[in-house]
Amino acid sequence: MLKVNSINRGIVIDHIPVGKGIKIFDKLKLNEADFPVVLLMNVSSNISQKKDIIKIENVMDIDLTLLGLIDSNITVNIIDDNKIIEKKKVEIPGDVTGMFKCKNSRCISNFDDYVTPKFKLVHKNSKLLYSCEYCDELTTYVL
Ligand SMILES: [Zn+2]
Repeated sequence: MLKVNSINRGIVIDHIPVGKGIKIFDKLKLNEADFPVVLLMNVSSNISQKKDIIKIENVMDIDLTLLGLIDSNITVNIIDDNKIIEKKKVEIPGDVTGMFKCKNSRCISNFDDYVTPKFKLVHKNSKLLYSCEYCDELTTYVL
């Protein structure tokens, strides 16, 4: 197992599905960070076969709605003094505002700059489907 120094104070985003780590890294703009950040890919895990992990040596707000849209098995650990002081459980969001666009090109949210896309979760099985509040079109979030 590859060794990476543990962090003193910050955030560990764990149990990220393999291949999604780099996308979350980009979404959280960690490539622009001026504090230490680490992306670990294809790490062995007991729960799933392999996973990605992001370690952030900084206290910052992490968008749990975004992580929930990606995978609800992701966990967010808040670290202080080298210990986990809080574990945040990520949940599939029921209501989403402005995170992605409606699939319907004729939808008002796609051409009126003053209309923010709003969605409601309508299906929770293998695929997450979100219904547009303006036109009822179903859209799946793709990272
Ligand atoms: Zn729409």
